[in-house]
Amino acid sequence: MSLIKVGVVGCGGRMGQALVGQIMDHKDAELSGGTERHDSPLIGQDIRHPDTNISSNLSITDDAEALFEASDVVIDFTCPTATVLHASYAIKHQTTHIVGTTGMTPEDEDSLKAASGKVPVVYASNFSLGVNVLCYLTQQAAHLLDDNFDIEVLEMHHRHKVDAPSGTALSLGKAAAAGRGKNLDQVADWARHGITGEREKGNIGFAVLRGGNVAGEHTVSFNADDERLEVTHKAGNRVIFARGAVHAALWAVSQDAGLYDMFDVLGLPES
Ligand code: NAD
Repeated sequence: MSLIKVGVVGCGGRMGQALVGQIMDHKDAELSGGTERHDSPLIGQDIRHPDTNISSNLSITDDAEALFEASDVVIDFTCPTATVLHASYAIKHQTTHIVGTTGMTPEDEDSLKAASGKVPVVYASNFSLGVNVLCYLTQQAAHLLDDNFDIEVLEMHHRHKVDAPSGTALSLGKAAAAGRGKNLDQVADWARHGITGEREKGNIGFAVLRGGNVAGEHTVSFNADDERLEVTHKAGNRVIFARGAVHAALWAVSQDAGLYDMFDVLGLPES
């Protein structure tokens, strides 16, 4: 069986480097190249395995379009403006697109929907198996527990994260709202400060912590009088997201055009 050519846009980033390592180690995948921003000092440098420092014999370029052309699938953990541009290259070169970028606006997401009409696109706010099971459990618990249980979503990430709440916290909020037959926008309490008044029944609250090098921690807390149910996921290392994204890439290349999430990739039941 020939190896699947996997490219990494933003290969110098925290996730980009973890992805390069996972692809170089995978028996069914071959690294087809990596890009960085035009103004990045990394342009022209060797793409190396982050743990072993072994060279891939490829250099970092700023030519994302050429990378999409040379790849069966490209994995994209960059920033929303870059991801929107990359989606147009996915369409032009019929390249499967795996997107982990968070902080995308609904308009940004339209570019992924457009690409998914032509190629397989996997778009997920979190590529780890554990967090996707957490989403599933959250929806089930919200459905089973009545609205005497106040739902709060807590997340903590490293000090460099630029968006809040995390994409995963939003997915967990959506899952909790869906479990109660609601749309998150109707019931979200995004932030609290000053005299907020009493908590509104049925709302879903968010709390955001930032600091250190925490890869990602999420808790969904269901709070009734005298009892509390909590489900938590702690990511010890961002390699779990990279592993999930490479798994998604190898799965997606043999799918029809369409917009998929990790529930599809992992075969988890959509409820
Ligand atoms: P990072 O800042 O370390 O890496 C992003 C990289 O993309 C940088 O190296 C940057 O130079 C590069 N980049 C930006 N624009 C580019 C362009 N036009 N072309 C090529 N490269 C470009 O950030 P990170 O911690 O690796 O996170 C990246 C994104 O992935 C964020 O949106 C983050 O929230 C998200 N993320 C998602 C998951 C998930 O499972 N879905 C997990 C972790 C992080």
